[in-house]
Amino acid sequence: MTVAIIGGGIAGLTVGYLLAERFPALEIQIFEGQERPGGKIWTQKEGGYLIESAVNGFLDNRPKTLELSQQLGLSPVRSNEGARRRYIYAAGRLHRVPDGLLAFVGTDLLSAGAKVRVLMEAFLPAARGAAAPAVRDIEDETLASFATRRLGREAYETLIDPMASGIYAGDAQQLSLKACFPKVYNLEVNYGGLIRGMIGKMWEGRKTKTTVSAGPGGVLTSFEAGMGSIIDALGERLGQRLRVGHAAVAVERLRDRYVVHFDAGDPIEVEAVILAAPAYASSLMVRGLDGQLSRELGGIVNPPVSVVCMGVRKEHIKGNGVDGFGFLIPSKAGRKTLGTLFDSTIFPNRAPEGYTLLRTMLGGARNPHIAQLKDDDLVSTVLKELSDIIGLKHTPEMIKIYRHEKAIPQYNQGHPAMLERVNQLMQRHRGLYLHGNSYKGIGVNDCIETSYELVERIAGELFASAKRHQEGADDN
Ligand SMILES: Cc1cc2nc3c(=O)[nH]c(=O)nc-3n(C[C@H](O)[C@H](O)[C@H](O)COP(=O)(O)OP(=O)(O)OC[C@H]3O[C@@H](n4cnc5c(N)ncnc54)[C@H](O)[C@@H]3O)c2cc1C
Repeated sequence: MTVAIIGGGIAGLTVGYLLAERFPALEIQIFEGQERPGGKIWTQKEGGYLIESAVNGFLDNRPKTLELSQQLGLSPVRSNEGARRRYIYAAGRLHRVPDGLLAFVGTDLLSAGAKVRVLMEAFLPAARGAAAPAVRDIEDETLASFATRRLGREAYETLIDPMASGIYAGDAQQLSLKACFPKVYNLEVNYGGLIRGMIGKMWEGRKTKTTVSAGPGGVLTSFEAGMGSIIDALGERLGQRLRVGHAAVAVERLRDRYVVHFDAGDPIEVEAVILAAPAYASSLMVRGLDGQLSRELGGIVNPPVSVVCMGVRKEHIKGNGVDGFGFLIPSKAGRKTLGTLFDSTIFPNRAPEGYTLLRTMLGGARNPHIAQLKDDDLVSTVLKELSDIIGLKHTPEMIKIYRHEKAIPQYNQGHPAMLERVNQLMQRHRGLYLHGNSYKGIGVNDCIETSYELVERIAGELFASAKRHQEGADDN
């Protein structure tokens, strides 16, 4: 039996590797359109800097990524203690994001009125779930609507809106709470609210002697040589099964098999296809197979993001903030960048001694055109903002730009209903699977966790049907 995997990002490579480990007799071929595998994971070494083009780590609180790392013989590196300090730019300067109740009460990030409004959340009635089963129209609510309703406008604008751009490069007024932050959604459903939910979870954790986190939790983790290590290790294990420079253009059905066509070279015939390319690319591949499915997948948008990396002398940076993870900028601040990460504070060995590696993100759903500025304009935009925010007045000694024309899939309002329709449509296509970060979680952890799940599913479905075929043949 042959399985073709289209897309050699972390999702495609992981599912390929896990299938190969579990079923050594299975013929697996992974086709990656670009000349290098990894997709959004790509680490480059330059002049003593270790630079991530996009992904810079994963949280260590989801076991499957650590399990895979161990299987591959990789040793994860946790972010430095200082990375716990995260900042938000407001009223012309950086403010540390409060990480506990006392810090929240003391922060000048929010006005006194806004803090009271946040704490009042504990007493607000639930608008969904068991406590309010009749309210159905806001079941798939935007992040902005939810945060304003539960926490008040100021907390939404100052804390939640930058989080949407930090994680999704997204627009909180479009993102679906249920699709993007299902744990938060469930706090209201199961406990009636956020504060009640967090207290409830802590209480349950105490009873069961486990750490139960209501939020994402975990420590940002990578590898000594950066995130590219996991791609290199998977590539090595996959060997000849991974073929780069092979872009799939169409998937067709031929009786109970599939035919995959490429931009060059001969088509191949296989029993199963895993589409692990982004949904917009898979949408084009299935146009002839299922127009309705193609239209649904084509509806998931990935706005552009550019990442501008700069190596600067430590003493050329002034002001607070550079001792931590980095900072995010709320839309109401009217700035052009989304935020900056201090990669050399987060992880060791990212910059030469005496230098700092800064990575600034631009674009996303709110300002896609900014990501598409010419190189010079991108650099001058970043320098102007870093000058205002962290006092950087000198020319960086290293500048590198990574452009992601189609960066992060936006799980906008309607995404959960769209997934249900897609699942229905996929029933018609036995042996065809959708995979990758366009559907049920955008992060590395999601891609790896769903790879393990997909292997189980494929084992159940394909091998059961192969066995039935074999038994039928034996009976004849
Ligand atoms: C700027 C940025 C920063 C990010 N930071 C983080 C982070 O720190 N942590 C985190 O967890 N996540 C982060 N993400 C999210 C990240 O995209 C995912 O975590 C993950 O890398 C997605 O993996 P994937 O395999 O689903 O998709 P991709 O990495 O996009 O891989 C898909 C692959 O399919 C290939 N492909 C496309 N079309 C075809 C075709 N027709 N034929 C063959 N191959 C094709 C592409 O070339 C690509 O290699 C970030 C994303 C961006 C853009």
